[in-house]
Amino acid sequence: MSEWKTCWVEGKSLTSPQGETALVLNPATGETVATVAEATALEVDSAVNAAHRAFASGVWRKASPSNRSKTLHRLAELVRTHAEELAQLESRPAGKTITDSRDEIRYSANIIQYYAGILPTFGGEVPAVSANGTGLVFREPIGVCGLIVPWNFPLVVALWKIAPALAMGNSIVVKPAPATPLTVLRLAELAQEAGLPDGVFNVVLGGAEVGRTLVQHPLTRKVSFTGSTRAGKEVMKMAADGIKRVSLELGGKSASIVFADANVEKAANTLWSVFANAGQDCCARSRMLVQRPVYNEYVERFVENTRKIRLGLPQEDTTEMGCLISYAQRERVDGLVQQGKAQGAKLCLGGGVPTGAEFANGSFYEPTVFADVTPDMVIANEEIFGPVASILPFDTEEEAIQIANATQYGLSGSVWTRDIARALRLVREVEAGVISVNTSSSVHLEMPFGGMKQSGTGRELSHHALEHYSELKSVFISAE
Ligand code: NAD
Repeated sequence: MSEWKTCWVEGKSLTSPQGETALVLNPATGETVATVAEATALEVDSAVNAAHRAFASGVWRKASPSNRSKTLHRLAELVRTHAEELAQLESRPAGKTITDSRDEIRYSANIIQYYAGILPTFGGEVPAVSANGTGLVFREPIGVCGLIVPWNFPLVVALWKIAPALAMGNSIVVKPAPATPLTVLRLAELAQEAGLPDGVFNVVLGGAEVGRTLVQHPLTRKVSFTGSTRAGKEVMKMAADGIKRVSLELGGKSASIVFADANVEKAANTLWSVFANAGQDCCARSRMLVQRPVYNEYVERFVENTRKIRLGLPQEDTTEMGCLISYAQRERVDGLVQQGKAQGAKLCLGGGVPTGAEFANGSFYEPTVFADVTPDMVIANEEIFGPVASILPFDTEEEAIQIANATQYGLSGSVWTRDIARALRLVREVEAGVISVNTSSSVHLEMPFGGMKQSGTGRELSHHALEHYSELKSVFISAE
């Protein structure tokens, strides 16, 4: 059944939307999941003004940290109570497996609970200044935060921004991706039920143009964006005009570096480091650099493991990999795969659209593995954002570091070795904001997440995210 959705402004859905109508589709089946009215500039203006009024009134910003914390705890509980509904709303438009969607909703509640828990402990400072007075350093909320979200992890990535922004007392205007707006809209309703004052949490619907309007609005003081490096650059330029605070979480081309002394069996089994979410993951380890003595063994094991991935309809419990977000994304991925073949990479598995009746109406792509990739090939450099792994051989530690760093990106990475000294050297030398040793798991609520170089600026998660949603104010009180 298809629903009708409009922007959420000052605690209600807009009743007479002015914008164009767009369809939210299920990319696995082609069915319409919802119909949405996209925002016009007028509606973005209403949302930002509502957020600004709520901020100026102090209704949330001046609430005590313990009261803000209680509201966020209630929201976390409501997300848990509505977990199955949210998982369905997430899975259908994203083509994401229902199993992953359920995990992500559980994790979403944990994000809110984490910030509800730490916010009362995140205060100011009383620095030792001078005998003539006392210094106080306050952490003030910034104001209206424009939060722009992609389609790959629609609720999780939104909450990486929403939870710390609200925790610090800001007002927010969230712009979800046009393909996946439903869970953020439902979250806004649940936030109201949790007791968040109207106007603090607003949602505008639409694509790049709506995003641009939100970034450029004079009352938007902070922008947090996740998406492509191309759009991130544009956001940064637009924000420069108003000296707006900017956090960017952009693309990646992360390396998993496997040394000959590693547990090769374990390393070659971490399929989800690249195939999770059908490869549409900014921290996917899509380049696997493998030292030559174990190179053939690794390739063989990795290909055999990948062959077992159960590609299927996202709604089925047994499906391990769903489809891509759209046919356009599939075309882009396939274009890069064709370039890999043309440049001489060895296609070991996949490389095309799967056959079978269940795949006929959706943007599915086979899990794909290339070996003998060289650092100059397009597939070794471009963020593919699809289920494509590239395996490259290397000889020395220096060569591995050189290849790993020869990219504009610097988001994440992994090192596989039993040599602790080497692991410690590598984690310092690889230019990435997030790196793991002997595992591909690197995203933890308690640790900052974000990129070096063109993978972005600022950090999400951990208490450090709160720094990006607050300003320091220094006060000196004379003792004389
Ligand atoms: P995109 O960067 O165009 O869109 C991401 C979000 O930003 C969406 O909400 C979009 O509406 C909005 N947006 C786009 N241009 C904008 C602008 N100029 N100003 C303000 N907001 C803007 O990403 P896409 O087109 O959906 O995907 C293209 C590629 O981006 C993918 O193939 C992938 O490589 C990359 N991507 C990365 C991530 C990530 O997590 N880092 C997420 C999605 C896409």
